[in-house]
Amino acid sequence: MTSSFNPTPRTLMGPGPSDVHPRILSALGRPTIGHLDPEFVSMMDDVKTMLQYAFQTKNELTIAVSAPGSAGMETCFVNLIEAGDNVIVCQNGVFGGRMKENVERIGATAIMVEDDWGKAVDVAKVEAALKANPGVKAVCFVHAETSTGAASDAKAICDLAHQHGALTIVDAVTSLGGSELRVDDWGIDAIYSGTQKCLSCVPGISPVSLNDRAVEVVKNRKTRVQSWFLDLNLVMGYWGGEGKRAYHHTAPVNALYALHESLVMLQEEGLENSWQRHHNNHLALRAGIEAMGLQFIVDENSRLPQLNAVTIPEGVDEAAVRSTLLNQFNLEIGAGLGALAGKVWRIGLMGYSSRAENILLCLGALDAVLTEMGAKINSGAAIPAAQAKMK
Ligand SMILES: *Cc1c(COP(=O)(O)O)cnc(C)c1O
Repeated sequence: MTSSFNPTPRTLMGPGPSDVHPRILSALGRPTIGHLDPEFVSMMDDVKTMLQYAFQTKNELTIAVSAPGSAGMETCFVNLIEAGDNVIVCQNGVFGGRMKENVERIGATAIMVEDDWGKAVDVAKVEAALKANPGVKAVCFVHAETSTGAASDAKAICDLAHQHGALTIVDAVTSLGGSELRVDDWGIDAIYSGTQKCLSCVPGISPVSLNDRAVEVVKNRKTRVQSWFLDLNLVMGYWGGEGKRAYHHTAPVNALYALHESLVMLQEEGLENSWQRHHNNHLALRAGIEAMGLQFIVDENSRLPQLNAVTIPEGVDEAAVRSTLLNQFNLEIGAGLGALAGKVWRIGLMGYSSRAENILLCLGALDAVLTEMGAKINSGAAIPAAQAKMK
């Protein structure tokens, strides 16, 4: 007979999921109630209000899609883009490629603005693409490219898009809660995120927010949204205004308790304090990584604090290092993806994972494993360097 599944507790310092705080895990175990129970409905209202805070928006259409970040991405694309539209897609890593995939599957045309992996989206190239392609419907980009650790200048790109009358669709799966993000001030029209990165909640939910301009576009579509499940015209009836909540699908009741708790914790800490904590912890990790002799691949001015892509010492079997970290230290770090496969490790400092003890564990474990393998690093230098930044 199959016995219960009891995973070994790990420290999660990859590209997500991040460590889930015990308070959030215990929220999951609260009694399941009906998804139209008045208590549940009022909890959903709180989730919405707290998501508005996390996104820094007053957008009425701010909801939690009942599926992971990828479904939040698809929600924005299938609702806002129609067959025949022209859309500018910025790609500087894996996730921009998925935006392209979404656009093309809808039957729209993706006009690509490409930058090297590890670089921010080049704002000048976006401007050139807008000038060369009058009438594009939207400009889409990834605010925090988790595949490389590069941040892009969301405000500058949104300003340009609006000067040319285009909507903006922004991937904030990794930025929400971890680095500065201001949906209303920056003029973001549609944005999606995920719960398992800097919100430190369980995977499987996607916060999404659309401003009135984007909602008008959804309401005035020429064709029906191709996805029944993600059609915001229907989802809005479930999340929407007082008294008129209609059954659309059964919300992941307990997962939403967890999201609620993670957002309560974000409020308690304060959004800006959370951004600052991610920044400070990045600086401590960075001091240790550089003291060891490894380098960051992203330029300092576009480096994400929550996702650190670092070089691998010459001659080291990077996969063997990761499996030793997992097996001996119960520590997960990420591999490189796509163009960076085999070239970098991705060390996540997201949400509850972004704390001093994790940094010291990671640096100490990496130092021990690399030293044992005979890698050319400055053994013993990392932890004191990081500690010096934590004083
Ligand atoms: C993780 C991630 C996604 C996808 O989120 P899932 O929850 O894995 O579906 C999308 N975009 C970015 C930038 C991500 O980091």
